[in-house]
Amino acid sequence: MLNEMSRLQDYTQQVAPRMLEETLELVALESPSEDRERVNQAVRWVEKRLDALGVTTARVLQNEAGDQLIARWGNSPRATLLLGHLDTVWEVGQLARMPIRVEKGKAYGPGIYDMKSGAVLMVELFEVAARAACKFSTSLVAFFNSDEETGSRTSRGVLEKLAWECDQVLVFEPSLPGGKVKTSRKGVGDYRLEIFGKSAHAGANLRDGISAIEEFAHQLFLLQEIVESHPGATVNIGVVRGGTRSNVVADYLQAEIDIRVASLKDGEIIEQRLKSLKPHLAGATIQVAGGINRPPLERDQGVVQLFAKAAGVAREQGWTLQEGETGGGSDGSFTAAMGIPTLDGLGPDGDGAHALHEHIVVDDLSRRLALAAGLLERL
Ligand SMILES: [Zn+2]
Repeated sequence: MLNEMSRLQDYTQQVAPRMLEETLELVALESPSEDRERVNQAVRWVEKRLDALGVTTARVLQNEAGDQLIARWGNSPRATLLLGHLDTVWEVGQLARMPIRVEKGKAYGPGIYDMKSGAVLMVELFEVAARAACKFSTSLVAFFNSDEETGSRTSRGVLEKLAWECDQVLVFEPSLPGGKVKTSRKGVGDYRLEIFGKSAHAGANLRDGISAIEEFAHQLFLLQEIVESHPGATVNIGVVRGGTRSNVVADYLQAEIDIRVASLKDGEIIEQRLKSLKPHLAGATIQVAGGINRPPLERDQGVVQLFAKAAGVAREQGWTLQEGETGGGSDGSFTAAMGIPTLDGLGPDGDGAHALHEHIVVDDLSRRLALAAGLLERL
């Protein structure tokens, strides 16, 4: 086994320059989620690369987003879903402001860390399989998403259907800065709170009015209390609109609320309490709409076991793989909520997702390929 392991590491060292080159090529194909044509260029790039290897690919055609790409390899009845996305948060033209460059062991460019380099890793795993550089214990099913950054509206159903076919899911979203994989992600809920009061003249008949703003003041801290009584849960009221003039009692207020939760159960309890908020002022009414749009990735038994296997592979390859948590969601959150063991953050080390200093650590490309391939040998 040790011999095989070092053979795998030799192989990944050899292909490292190609991986960097391909990553930069894919970064050069700018692909914001909203630009269907541009995303499809990146899809075509991956498709061509996989077709050349003899991998079976199929497109899921979309009108409102770029197409999604499914790739399959192997005939083992057990399967692993490799999950990633080709869309980025960067507009076309961002390349001019964030030029592609390699400097002091880091490669920079829009979308390189989140997650063009991870997509290249997924492609390279098929090459490992095609060249029989090592023998995977399961079939591979890969899903290259096109609208992950905008909430996976067109793709969620497709990827969940694929996940049902699979025994586990490996997500090639970026690792945490420093290289940790992600074994827990918070769930994200979006809510809109509305308060209806009654307008009145601030001087002549103030007492006839019911102030939606005053009502909100009563609800604000209660809301924080409700959320923060759950460990790890947070609330941000990012937008508040209400009132018309200083001399008019405000009859309406609207607040947009972002809630993050560590478990789905907490999310459900919080949601129930939000939706049954009682007004403090007589005559005021409160309405809350919205829901959890990404479930949390909970560090359950399946996640822990998958991480333990990956950490074991890293140890044999001479390094220590660590785990961590993040407040953001990913497609891995959907598959984990389905109860399918999911390991997220297998993409290269780097920093600056959605930020101007976005980069990867170049040496980590081959190390991550060896890790994922080694893991696929023993699932
Ligand atoms: Zn991402």
